[in-house]
Amino acid sequence: MKCPYCNHTEDKVLESRPTRDDEAVRRRRECLGCNRRYTTFEEVEMRRMIVVKRDGTRDEFDRAKILRGMETACQKRPVSNATLLEAACRIERELLDRLDLEVTTSEIGECVMRELLAIDQVALVRFASVYLEFESPTEFREIVSRLKKGGQNSKIITTKRPEVLVN
Ligand SMILES: [Zn+2]
Repeated sequence: MKCPYCNHTEDKVLESRPTRDDEAVRRRRECLGCNRRYTTFEEVEMRRMIVVKRDGTRDEFDRAKILRGMETACQKRPVSNATLLEAACRIERELLDRLDLEVTTSEIGECVMRELLAIDQVALVRFASVYLEFESPTEFREIVSRLKKGGQNSKIITTKRPEVLVN
């Protein structure tokens, strides 16, 4: 952090004290450049994700929307709600683990497709046809094979992990 007086970036912490409500920490610091002292205020960054849509508009991330999308794709398929809820939670957690709190709808779509690939391939086809508005079956096959190989975004999520639910 830059010193407010001389812009030097190294300092030492002299004292740390939580605020009265324990929601934050104040630190008294001394600049190693000019030796002047200043206070920083540190609190938890609320991990609220913003979804950037194709038209550039932004919306708050909503796990329920992901779940609804998967439920629609899984209608009359032998897939339990619990399975879908787990998948939605996994997607949310994986996205939250990234530093970047902006996520595009296509990134979310890829996460959902990767989950559906493991859950139910009929549902995957339904979801992809709506969500991606893919133009040709070839394009769809390419996407599926990329998902299967664990394409460029495979770090975001891997399927079929026996993990507990978030919350
Ligand atoms: Zn300084």
